[in-house]
Amino acid sequence: MNRNLYQLLSAGFPKNPAAPCMILADRRAWTYGDIARASARMANLLVALGLKPGDRVAAQVEKTPEALVLYLAAIRAGLVFLPLNPAYQRHELEYFLEDARPGLFVCRPPQRALADELAACAGVPHVLELDDAGRGSLIAAAAAQPDAFKAVPRRSSDLAAILYTSGTTGRSKGAMLSHGNLAHNAKTLHGYWQFRPGDVLLHMLPIFHVHGLFVACHCALLNGSAMFFEPKFDAARALALLPQSTVFMGVPTYYVRLLQDPAFGRDTCRRMRLFISGSAPLLKETFDDFKIRSGHTILERYGMTEGGMFTSNPYAGERRGGTVGLPLPGTDLRIVSADGTAARPGVIGRIQVRGDNVFVGYWGMSEKTREEFTADGFFETGDMGSRDTEGYVTISGRSKDLVITGGLNVYPKEIEELIDAMPGVAESAVIGLPHPDFGEAVTAVVVRKKDGAGNATAQQPTESAIIAVLKAELANFKIPKRIHFVDDLPRNAMGKVQKNVLRNAFVSHGR
Ligand code: AMP
Repeated sequence: MNRNLYQLLSAGFPKNPAAPCMILADRRAWTYGDIARASARMANLLVALGLKPGDRVAAQVEKTPEALVLYLAAIRAGLVFLPLNPAYQRHELEYFLEDARPGLFVCRPPQRALADELAACAGVPHVLELDDAGRGSLIAAAAAQPDAFKAVPRRSSDLAAILYTSGTTGRSKGAMLSHGNLAHNAKTLHGYWQFRPGDVLLHMLPIFHVHGLFVACHCALLNGSAMFFEPKFDAARALALLPQSTVFMGVPTYYVRLLQDPAFGRDTCRRMRLFISGSAPLLKETFDDFKIRSGHTILERYGMTEGGMFTSNPYAGERRGGTVGLPLPGTDLRIVSADGTAARPGVIGRIQVRGDNVFVGYWGMSEKTREEFTADGFFETGDMGSRDTEGYVTISGRSKDLVITGGLNVYPKEIEELIDAMPGVAESAVIGLPHPDFGEAVTAVVVRKKDGAGNATAQQPTESAIIAVLKAELANFKIPKRIHFVDDLPRNAMGKVQKNVLRNAFVSHGR
């Protein structure tokens, strides 16, 4: 049987080819018939260029319908899709092209000269262009191709995509995802979140990442749903489109921004049935405020590039703020203490996962891959967390963000939660900085609340006031040695706080 992921997705396309798939800002729609034909033309082009099953297709382009069509064409033709964040610069691009050696690199026109130069060095035979309006040599070359294409036979274990991890420490790694990995996660999420006829997804996420490309698009395509396909998150656009949507997926910052808009409320959400959050921790305060303002309980889920989604709060059961819910069907999840035994409920340990969605390994890094899997096939996620007696998982942070001070473990989240709950605090991040006596010094970086006009609020917490409150709640070794105040925390495109950036910025303040 052909396990090509395109077969699975296209089986979900509506019978009526005129049904809308992507609705753009100017209300033009790409129908399901359009994407089937356009991806066939592009798949024919990829084959005509001489690309063979298993070859990589790298794309560093903006979010457009044509970019999604390129992804569909690549998997349809049995090629391996490699999306790259448009923000990557020369140095990063050079590494990705050298490492993955794609057969085709699709770039934005302003990057053409750089792309040609780097492609020549890396031995990439073809470079084509796709601009931010969905035009360019890629589209021109595909236009003459036939608009039918039979999905190339693939086994479950054949690769469909390589996604480079954001690589905040060391080299970025290419996570190899198979047709089987992506199909398993797509079917699981589609069922678990109860996608149904009539659903309309508001899609504002980037599509170079697991969240926007796989979680969001796969659910919509498998369901034959229309998506409002917006180039990026914009609160005003969200307010205009939410009343016509039923499902929204976002990173926590999107929810914070929606709440900052006084126009957002129950009426905005009158057709909505589901708000999903992930990719970074959702503050309990945001979860609670959102419920009051919208009447909806955000469903938080947890996963990563290396395996799609691992846990989700239930669709029908209780959604608990501050938790990422329960392991998804088909995912084995365990929490392991420092001594290698299973952690008891409430005890923080390393999160390990196993399942058909878990990736094949890191591209060209077999040694690294071996290190990250246990003998019994569990993947070491690098996240720390705990489970309560009913199985709900709480994430405490990345293991590399764990602060070890005087030989004692400090989990940043425990301190961040207390600081975030103080009046006048918007958010915080706790990091460890080098310290001659303690190894690492616990350090907090705090953002103070501003009013709607961007001015400081009346309550302005000070370093000594924050430390005094923490002293009443926590053991002394967990108390930050210093509190620094900043206007904003540095975040990447997926809303994750970049603790490495903070560590570098404050490194000389450790003592
Ligand atoms: P990425 O591979 O870019 O999707 O990043 C995955 C990482 O994001 C995970 O390993 C977690 O550290 C973090 N993450 C994803 N979802 C959540 C969540 N709901 N809460 C806390 N952290 C999350």
